Amino acid sequence: MYDLIVVGGGPAGLTAAIYAIRKRLNVLLVSKDLGGKTNFHLEIPDQENYLVIRGVEVVNKFKRELEYLNFTRRMEQVDRVTQEADYFLIHLEGGDQLEAKSVIVATGTRQQFLDVPGEREYLSRGLCYSAISYAPLFIDKKTVVIGDGDLALRSTAELATVAEHVHLVGPTDAALETPLGKKIKTSPNVTVLEGYEVTRILGNGYAERVVVRDPKGNEMDIPADGTFVEKALIPNTKMVAGLVETTEDGFIVVDCYGQTNVPGIFAAGDVTHIIAEQVLVAVGEGVKAALGAYDYLLRMD
Ligand SMILES: Cc1cc2nc3c(=O)[nH]c(=O)nc-3n(C[C@H](O)[C@H](O)[C@H](O)COP(=O)(O)OP(=O)(O)OC[C@H]3O[C@@H](n4cnc5c(N)ncnc54)[C@H](O)[C@@H]3O)c2cc1C
Repeated sequence: MYDLIVVGGGPAGLTAAIYAIRKRLNVLLVSKDLGGKTNFHLEIPDQENYLVIRGVEVVNKFKRELEYLNFTRRMEQVDRVTQEADYFLIHLEGGDQLEAKSVIVATGTRQQFLDVPGEREYLSRGLCYSAISYAPLFIDKKTVVIGDGDLALRSTAELATVAEHVHLVGPTDAALETPLGKKIKTSPNVTVLEGYEVTRILGNGYAERVVVRDPKGNEMDIPADGTFVEKALIPNTKMVAGLVETTEDGFIVVDCYGQTNVPGIFAAGDVTHIIAEQVLVAVGEGVKAALGAYDYLLRMD
């Protein structure tokens, strides 16, 4: 029986596991990979990296520690978590079951793809899924945001503060009627393409143009130094579906200790309802959840 099983090897899960090791807990990290979304980053031509602090470098330090302590990790997908009398069963995809007194869910989110020609080809090369991470790189550049809801609006607003121009493709009427939607519609450097859809991404080594189709079926070409696909993120919570409380959008609700509504189950990082989708936030939330679990175990009979 483990004291703690951490599910997910991104920034939140890695730091949670390292903190648990430091607290001398009998801990196991179970994950499909180590590093999570920090394994992806956007490249653009002539990128200035001088003196930039990269979250991935912080995460890599934790990652190396866990790679060295190889008995503390198992690289496998978790299928389900179930609650027994006073412990939890972690069901692995391969069929094994692990027992733990407490669990931290740090499984992140997944983005929705457009599924148009060119998208996968230029993924991370001028096209990406995190404007909140990269907006500052697009000073005086041409950008395109694709998405229908709040994430697309927030990304557009953030890019509009630095970019020469932002085209927002495909927002819904409802999104444009919100206070942020109305503000965006009147921004001088934003063009809102309501009812348009993307048909393909064109480029040469890097994504350079987004081809869109208007409601009448006419196509046009928008030049873009940066293309951001900003459809709503989907939290990876299938394994605890019906077990812990989530928001309407499926994000796990946690308190300030990272504790869910089920005593002994904690959660951290992008999978929770905590703002914001950033490495350093996930790192801090992972530490908090580990300390929360440690405190929970101290008080257990
Ligand atoms: C393209 C891109 C670029 C970004 N760039 C930046 C940046 O420059 N700066 C920044 O601060 N943020 C950036 N972000 C955001 C940042 O990467 C995330 O906020 C951060 O990685 C979240 O950490 P996490 O640990 O919560 O989740 P994740 O990093 O998503 O990790 C989740 C982990 O859970 C594992 N997992 C999921 N389901 C299961 C399962 N069923 N069983 C076992 N394991 C499972 C995954 O394999 C993964 O290891 C970027 C995001 C993207 C998509």
